Amino acid sequence: MTVDGDSRRAAGTPSAEEYRALLKQITQEAHANELKWQRTLERQMDLLRADTLPDLLNFLTAGLKKSFDLESVRLVLEDSNHEVQHLLQASGARLEDFPRVTFVEALGHLTHQLADLQRPWLGAFVAFNHAPIFPAEETLKTIALLPLLRQRRVAGVLCFGSADPDRFNHRLGSSFLAHLAGMASICLENACNRERVLKSGLSDYLTGWHNRRYLESRLKEEISRARRSGGDVACLMIDIDYFKAINDSCGHAGGDQVLREVATRIETMIRASDAAIRFGGDEFLLLLPEAALDGAVKRAERIRKALLEPIVLPAGRDRMVTLSIGVASIRVARTAQDLQALADRLLAEADAALYRAKADGRDCVRTVAVGDTV
Ligand code: GH3
Ligand code: MG
Repeated sequence: MTVDGDSRRAAGTPSAEEYRALLKQITQEAHANELKWQRTLERQMDLLRADTLPDLLNFLTAGLKKSFDLESVRLVLEDSNHEVQHLLQASGARLEDFPRVTFVEALGHLTHQLADLQRPWLGAFVAFNHAPIFPAEETLKTIALLPLLRQRRVAGVLCFGSADPDRFNHRLGSSFLAHLAGMASICLENACNRERVLKSGLSDYLTGWHNRRYLESRLKEEISRARRSGGDVACLMIDIDYFKAINDSCGHAGGDQVLREVATRIETMIRASDAAIRFGGDEFLLLLPEAALDGAVKRAERIRKALLEPIVLPAGRDRMVTLSIGVASIRVARTAQDLQALADRLLAEADAALYRAKADGRDCVRTVAVGDTV
């Protein structure tokens, strides 16, 4: 009995040609997978290199968008106690600088699908469900939602959007993406921990405000930001009047309580973009980005008036506390060179203005007049 090709094919066995085509397809897929794996490894190395929280968030959004050639990448982070936002600000960054990162109280609030996503989801972009994740991105056709898991809890979701209808679909293997998301969540946790450690060295234990060391770096950043726009930076130097007498009559603990209450009342008057620093014993400093002198003086008056109500100390004792405030503002030209000299001048002017407020009888706001030497 002979077994010819026709009878083999009749039994469902592929021909030599079909074998070759199959082998070619498998080889191509293996090659494509190898490339994907290579790219994923390279992105992982980039992730590990991002050594600050702002760098990492930039890499996870703008960086991945570019390297994976995507139309959109968004990062949604659950941050119910605003801790990540505070850590970012403490590192000197501004939330507006991260337009692709969305902070939410709970992931499910943005869209139901994010509520408990335990593994990557790949599929069609459906505006009704996904527009809240990708606002104003009408060109998207397919998306991948990659949960960032922390001890089986979803801490955030990395969201990739493509205009290619075949880019992400549920038949595609998602282990590369799951791996990348796993690395991303570890890096995110590490970056937050690093910022926490740094912050603890940059904040004042009594008030929770930033300390003087933080001022040095933040002041330089604000001045260079102002230089980019040719804008202003203002500084308010605030000192409690006759604080020694409060310490003498209420004791150190009573004095501490007054310091904390003064800081709390000032906090109600400041904006997220301002920097609040405990400058010394009873001296506080506020940096107000984009504030010209007039506006800064108005803000200082409001702060002074926030202390018109007495502070209640334990045992029901009331204590009137007043503030003297020195205000200065500088406009930073786009051509400015010596930023350190500008920083020194801003602080020196605010200090001279505070001295004047004290000399003028305290409980008032002062600036230095043009032409005064500081
Ligand atoms: P002036 O109106 O001129 O500002 O007078 P003042 O009495 O407020 O004088 P000054 O600002 O020099 O006094 C600051 C005092 O604050 C001196 C110091 O003993 C006290 N002090 C510094 N740090 C602390 C602190 O952390 N807690 C308490 N309770 N007191 C502090
Ligand atoms: Mg004082």
